[in-house]
Amino acid sequence: MHNTSLIATIVAGLGLAFVLGAIANRLKLPVLVGYLLAGVLVGPFTPGYVADQELAPQLAEIGVILLMFGVGLHFSLKDLMAVKNIAIPGAVVQIGAATAMGLGLAVALGWSLGAGVVFGLALSVASTVVLLRALQERRLIETGRGKIAVGWLIVEDLAMVLALVLLPALSGVLGGEAPAQQTGGVGMAFAITIGKVVAFVAFMLIVGRRVIPWILHRIAHTGSRELFRLAVLAIALGVAFGSAALFGVSFALGAFFAGMIMAESELSQQAANETLPLRDAFAVLFFVSIGMLFDPMVLIRDPVAVLATLAIIVIGKSLAALVIVLAFKRPMSTALTISVSLAQIGEFSFILAGLGVSLKLLPDDGRDLVLAGAILSILVNPLLFAWLDRLLPKMIAKEREASGEAPLAAAAQPHALLIGYGRVGKAVAEGLKGRTPLVVIEDDVERAEDLRKAGFETIGGNAVKPEVLLKAGLDKATHLFVAVPNPFEAARIIEQARAANPQCEIIARAYTDADVALLKQTGATHALIGEEEIAKGMLARAPKKKPTAGAGHH
Ligand code: AMP
Repeated sequence: MHNTSLIATIVAGLGLAFVLGAIANRLKLPVLVGYLLAGVLVGPFTPGYVADQELAPQLAEIGVILLMFGVGLHFSLKDLMAVKNIAIPGAVVQIGAATAMGLGLAVALGWSLGAGVVFGLALSVASTVVLLRALQERRLIETGRGKIAVGWLIVEDLAMVLALVLLPALSGVLGGEAPAQQTGGVGMAFAITIGKVVAFVAFMLIVGRRVIPWILHRIAHTGSRELFRLAVLAIALGVAFGSAALFGVSFALGAFFAGMIMAESELSQQAANETLPLRDAFAVLFFVSIGMLFDPMVLIRDPVAVLATLAIIVIGKSLAALVIVLAFKRPMSTALTISVSLAQIGEFSFILAGLGVSLKLLPDDGRDLVLAGAILSILVNPLLFAWLDRLLPKMIAKEREASGEAPLAAAAQPHALLIGYGRVGKAVAEGLKGRTPLVVIEDDVERAEDLRKAGFETIGGNAVKPEVLLKAGLDKATHLFVAVPNPFEAARIIEQARAANPQCEIIARAYTDADVALLKQTGATHALIGEEEIAKGMLARAPKKKPTAGAGHH
């Protein structure tokens, strides 16, 4: 029989994740819980089917690559430079604090110094996937807070690349096994690693920056959507893999740079859309593969140590991050978002712990604790975010008041609120001029600037976010025009508007009968289908009705 373990792993992973994710959703739990549980079920520590433990982490790695690539697509070099002053010291201090706490716990458990260092480092680095998913779900990636968090993550990523390289070199000193045939000392290993990272970045900025956009444009001109999609995937995966193989940087970092370079091309939005479905599917496999590593028995064997580990990850690390961000005079809302984003550990921690065990630095117990801490902190993370979602809108409103940012005049009186200033919204805005005070919310920075220039009271930002809607004086709005193209976003906007303002007339944009049903169900007064309105417009220009047969008769 031919070997189908790859297919079996994908099918079992996606299938079980789907079923358990749906159940979790039904129970109003984060879907992540379902994915992790699916992993535990197909893992080796529970009876029944066991998925391929070599393949699952590799599939997960593809998810990491596509996620980081997607983030890169929304990032420019300028963004990265803008956050470096807080992200670098922040990440370094947080890694230091977490390592110290991990070391403390290790000493209390009677482990060696080297074990403590590895354990602490493993607790210090947050999971890319968990962080990005949480930020993406809330559309925070492109906010100032989100950018700091992503920059911070990249610094952590770089630090871990260094740690993975230096650990074998340092192993002898730390009391572990020094690997055979070692070339040069620690200083040498350090210099080589830094040199490779610098070479990689230079290569991407000089060669990649010219070649990648050129390829994309050539392919876009062929007019083949299929080839374009393939080009995007080939570049994302190819650069990630190549940079890991040639320069020794992580897949994630390679993919991030590939995305960042593509972001400079005007085709980047299209490129991002092409990778979305694949990205989401593989991100699910990431959580399944983490679940597979988990041995539930550790919770019974060693509950106190597990709780202490979790406390370091969720409380200790967060406090350190909070203090640092506040020390940089950023508002509390930013500090909390960053702390919560980073209050978890994941893929890098396993790799580090695995390496520690193989170097005989870390006892097996240490790896089990890291795994338990990862699973539990990933489970706790959505709860922390839910708490944050409730807390933040008010906090941000207060911070705005305190900073003296003038509220919009129209927002304080009865007004119409328009969301989206594109093909539909623009016409609506023009038509409303002089009829009613108007506030417009527009997500696109340049379009928002155009709006301001055209004299409209404008709020830049995504209307899905509660704080943006709040600023627009939702409770005073008499009419809400939801002119955004995505019906799911429209539904989320309408839901919030309806809750804040039962009287408001809500008019929404739809494409299909299913959209109309969804939008009306969430509280829209009217939902208009583009095609139907075009038909009405055509008929309005059609020949007038002929006199009826009776009247025409002699
Ligand atoms: P069009 O499809 O041409 O009518 O353009 C839609 C407009 O709505 C674009 O300018 C988008 O930037 C904007 N838009 C889409 N989604 C949102 C949102 N959630 N909040 C605010 N503006 C949005």
